[in-house]
Amino acid sequence: MAGPLDEIRAKIDLAEIVSGYLRLQRAGKNLKGLCPFHNEKTPSFFVIPDLNRFKCFGCGESGDAFAFLMRMEGIGFADAARRLAAKAGVQLADNAFEKSATERSRLAGLQRAVQFANYYFRNSLAQSETARAYLQNRGIDEATIEKFQIGFAPDSWDGLLNYLKRNEVRLEEAEHAGVIDSGQRGLYDKFRNRIMFPIWDATGQPIAFGGRALGDGEPKYLNSPESPLFEKRKTLYGLHLARSAIFKSRSVIVVEGYVDLIALHQAGVENAVATLGTALTEEHAQRFQRLQVERVYLAYDADEAGSRATERAFELLNATNLATYVVALPAGQDPDGLYRSEGSNRMQRLIKEAERYPSYAIKALAAKADLRSDDGRARLIAAALPVLAQVRSNSERDAYVEQLAPYAPTFKINPKAAADSLRQDLAAYIRSQRKGAKPASAEAPTRRVATAFGPAILKSEQTILAAALLPSTRSKAWSIMASALFHSPENARLARLLLDQWPTPPSYSLSDMLAELQDEPARHALADIVSQAVVFTEPSETELKDCAAYLRKKTAKSKAAVLLRTIAESERKDEAWSEFIELTKKVE
Ligand SMILES: [Zn+2]
Repeated sequence: MAGPLDEIRAKIDLAEIVSGYLRLQRAGKNLKGLCPFHNEKTPSFFVIPDLNRFKCFGCGESGDAFAFLMRMEGIGFADAARRLAAKAGVQLADNAFEKSATERSRLAGLQRAVQFANYYFRNSLAQSETARAYLQNRGIDEATIEKFQIGFAPDSWDGLLNYLKRNEVRLEEAEHAGVIDSGQRGLYDKFRNRIMFPIWDATGQPIAFGGRALGDGEPKYLNSPESPLFEKRKTLYGLHLARSAIFKSRSVIVVEGYVDLIALHQAGVENAVATLGTALTEEHAQRFQRLQVERVYLAYDADEAGSRATERAFELLNATNLATYVVALPAGQDPDGLYRSEGSNRMQRLIKEAERYPSYAIKALAAKADLRSDDGRARLIAAALPVLAQVRSNSERDAYVEQLAPYAPTFKINPKAAADSLRQDLAAYIRSQRKGAKPASAEAPTRRVATAFGPAILKSEQTILAAALLPSTRSKAWSIMASALFHSPENARLARLLLDQWPTPPSYSLSDMLAELQDEPARHALADIVSQAVVFTEPSETELKDCAAYLRKKTAKSKAAVLLRTIAESERKDEAWSEFIELTKKVE
């Protein structure tokens, strides 16, 4: 009997799910698009409706709707299943995914605490004139309050505490979720007299809060502590609101905090996210890659801390092959302050004028350097070389050398010589870095090819397996599989599995046949094999016969080799010889 997961699989249209993340175009009876899991310029990512699966022929990633959602959103199987179940209108039992049930109920408990705290903060905002007036003064309108679910924590030690008690939220869960603190006199509200900004996960569920002091309270900004729900290094504030704008523009603007992000949205800039009191992390960069981002714009505060964060972010993004642009705010400004003092146009113009990081860095260094003295200029150049050394493209690096050259002490005398000597200095610097660097990590492992049988054998075997799944060639393939010609143990196992389950070829559709296979790894392996055939060329009967003949010949040859060895060592030479002669006849 089909379980709820099979029901979800049957009801979900993978193409529809995938379309929410990337543009798909028709390719015969399939759909193709740019792979979200690796960088590419021409599409090799296919959605195959016959299989309700995807397969990327560039990076090899493949799977069904569950796998797609898990990779795309960085969530586990259970979460993916729950979301697809909701979409398909399939009921999942509460005890589905028994294994993680404890963990799940623990997370659900924390989530519930955050959810109730959010209700409380939102209600409190509706009741507080002062808080609403404050937001209005800061130019935050009703629509923005709605969009960002902004709330208010009243100046009380037990307002939230009592609200949670009334709603039967377990207080240890509220404490664990970081909305309640405990001290010597017991539990108390963590956030008091603060404007509250819920922080969401990638799907838009509130998981934590940021609170901005309404008066002179310290600290000015207070965030929830990390919890099993909230990991700063993985969280990008506002991602669920920005996702489609990021997809469309292939770019993302990164700001430091939630008020900056809200200012950008109000300025009509929606492809923006905020890191919350942390530097940009590798997890963030990976998330950008999965969203097919090509350009990352850093709009950090124009102060010392902001420029250090910008530098570190460049190193990280550069290593991940993402182009880094810097939105240069006027000194001392942050996006929120700038938007409030100068409005949308200025903000949008600054983003449009953003420069690549190395170019920005040269200007920033020059602004700080003492350009009147040769010494000051030399120091500027020494500081710029490490930045330029990180630029991967030669032509780009050269353009930055040209930009830096006018600062060289000898530039006035001979500009060309100054640029040339800079080039040499840069090359020397890069060489010294390489020498000091650890040996390059091992080459990516080459695709494993079994030594006993070459790729041609594997290809033939896979053609037969694919043919066994495709309705038009199924019965022919069945008889070939039965003659046990497979060399690779893995393919032989797959063939045996099919023959065991269906002694005679079944008359199901392709996807039903796969769905019937209980052995999960085998199902994936077969789906992968048949994807290739469905997207490129479906095997014909002639091709099948050729494959079978080829495999038969290879079998005979390897058997002959064994016989020759036997003859050399054996007592029963005559017997082996006549067998060998028989075999050679077959092979010729
Ligand atoms: Zn790919």
